[in-house]
Amino acid sequence: MAIAKVMLVDDEVPFVEAMTKRLTKRDLNVISAYSGQESLEKLSKTQTIEVVILDVKMPGMDGIETLQEIKKSYPLVEVIMLTGHATVETAIEGMKLGAYDYLMKPCEMDVLMAKVEEAVDKKRKHEDKIIEARMKEITSRRP
Ligand SMILES: [Mg+2]
Repeated sequence: MAIAKVMLVDDEVPFVEAMTKRLTKRDLNVISAYSGQESLEKLSKTQTIEVVILDVKMPGMDGIETLQEIKKSYPLVEVIMLTGHATVETAIEGMKLGAYDYLMKPCEMDVLMAKVEEAVDKKRKHEDKIIEARMKEITSRRP
C-alpha cells in the first residue's frame, strides 16, 4: 500500500507534536493543523490528504463545523473524530454527518493506526469504484 497521507487537527500543540512524531514513525505522511480554519487551508493546498484525524473540541471553529466544511468540499476524504469522555455525543453526531469513526483520547496508537488504515482503505476503494464507473460509462458509449 502506498504511504498514506493524513492530517492531524487538534488545538493542543504538545499533543499534535507528539502524535505527529509517533504516526510518522509508523510510516504515515502526517500534516498537522492546530485549528479548523488551518485544516481547511491546508486541505485546499494539499489535495492528496486521504484521512483527517479531527479533534471535536477546539476553540473557534469546532470539530463538527470543521467536519461539515471538509465533507462539503472534499466528500471523499475520510474523517476520524477524536473525543474526550465529555464529548462522545458530539463524536456520534459527527458520524451521522459523515465521519468514518471516532476515537477516545488518550488514544492507543495501535487502535488509531488500525482505524487510519481502515479509513485509507475505504477511501481508496471508493475512489477506485468511481474510476471504474467512469471507465464503464466511457466504454459503453456508442461510437
Ligand atoms: Mg481540543
